[in-house]
Amino acid sequence: MALHKNEIIPLTIESLSSDGSGVGHYEGEAVFVPATAPGDVLQARIVKDCKHYAFGIVDKLEAPGPGRVQPDCPVYRPCGGCCFRHLSYEAELAAKQSFVADAFSRIGGLEIPMLPILPSPLPQRYRNKVQYPVALSPDGHIVTGFYAGRTHNVIPCSDCLLQPDVLNRIAQSVCRLLEQYHVSVYNEQTGKGLVRHIFLRQGYHSGEILVCLVANGRSLPHSREICEALQKEFSSIVGILLNVNTKRTNVITGPESILLAGREFLRDTLCGVPVELGPLSFYQVNTPGAEQLYGVAREFAALKPGDLLLDLYCGMGTIGLSMAADCSQLIGVEIISEAVESARRNAAAMGVQNARFFCADAGQAAAQLAEEGLAPNCIVLDPPRKGCDQTTLDAVLKMAPPTLVMVSCNPATAARDVRYLVDHGYTAQKVQAVDMFARTKHCECVVLLSKSHPETV
Ligand code: SAH
Repeated sequence: MALHKNEIIPLTIESLSSDGSGVGHYEGEAVFVPATAPGDVLQARIVKDCKHYAFGIVDKLEAPGPGRVQPDCPVYRPCGGCCFRHLSYEAELAAKQSFVADAFSRIGGLEIPMLPILPSPLPQRYRNKVQYPVALSPDGHIVTGFYAGRTHNVIPCSDCLLQPDVLNRIAQSVCRLLEQYHVSVYNEQTGKGLVRHIFLRQGYHSGEILVCLVANGRSLPHSREICEALQKEFSSIVGILLNVNTKRTNVITGPESILLAGREFLRDTLCGVPVELGPLSFYQVNTPGAEQLYGVAREFAALKPGDLLLDLYCGMGTIGLSMAADCSQLIGVEIISEAVESARRNAAAMGVQNARFFCADAGQAAAQLAEEGLAPNCIVLDPPRKGCDQTTLDAVLKMAPPTLVMVSCNPATAARDVRYLVDHGYTAQKVQAVDMFARTKHCECVVLLSKSHPETV
């Protein structure tokens, strides 16, 4: 039976889908309702029917499920950056544990023992980076906030609970200074006006802060006064930059950054690895969360003196370098040349001499290394969301290391890739879900695979 738009139906939410919506069934048809909790009993209003499933919104909540809480953010719904603020963190973790388990069982067709999910060490204010769009409010004030889901309307938000308090305070001060010095704000419709985004980064361990104003131009009026005022108010600011983005595009930053004050980068550490971060460097946004994740990877890798470790998709080298002391040789492969340079600098700063980093496509480099007869004892794979490509997986199979550690920000592609490796002689030993993005729908996982029949190699 088809449901109709605007029809109101009774629904009990049974579970959460991996995009964060609640799911219930009405006469056999799955109905997805955002911002609901398992156990909620509600009247849902249908907004769209897609034949075998439908989308609805809450018309009336009749009885809340056990994990439901009052959202702690005033712009939770319109902002859309978080999708679980109506759930207790325990209920969110339970949901994420089952997303990861479902990905491996449904997509991968695999039964792998799952360890209990590791929560984010900080459930709030864990991000080390924020990019606030800047806009004019109806009463003419400069505000920062977030784009409302799928739109380009800025929802003002002066205190995002995912960001450290000091970054929110800096963004507010920047707005006041821009107003004071009559600096214009970019307008997406007309393509006119100067300041587009306020981009801030903070080193979790060092506390150092980098301020970057993304601008539709190459100079900031009253730059000296604005920089001095900011540095005076916030002593942790180590550098202020103007990033030039004059294109009419959704991409936030442009390729060029001009230094206005201080230095171009901040210093921090990750798992004891010293890092230097500019505005454009890729870096995990939750530092203590990433340290926990890499700790799991290190434990799974269980390297021994004499071992050779191959770190594919290594970024600035942090996973491999955090394990460099456990092995005798480290090879990292990464496609972005700036990241490879950072990896080399990080290794040098640590005094690590047993590491080499190649700037190449992971698949091509791995195929060549396999061809040369490289026999690593362990390979760590940490691909982007789309997962590994066939060339990479085939080269990994050819090198046939006894241990593989797959780190992934997308359990669905991880399940697909693990399935392929299992079909070609590996055993998936265990999966560890790690929450690095509390309150949002994203979840990381680490999988340990080992060679099933070493005697046949
Ligand atoms: N291990 C790193 C980075 C993981 S993110 C860390 O934890 O910080 C995935 C990385 O894969 C990014 O640095 C991205 O630039 C890189 N990458 C994407 N496609 C690639 C490819 N085809 N070959 C090699 N590296 C690639």
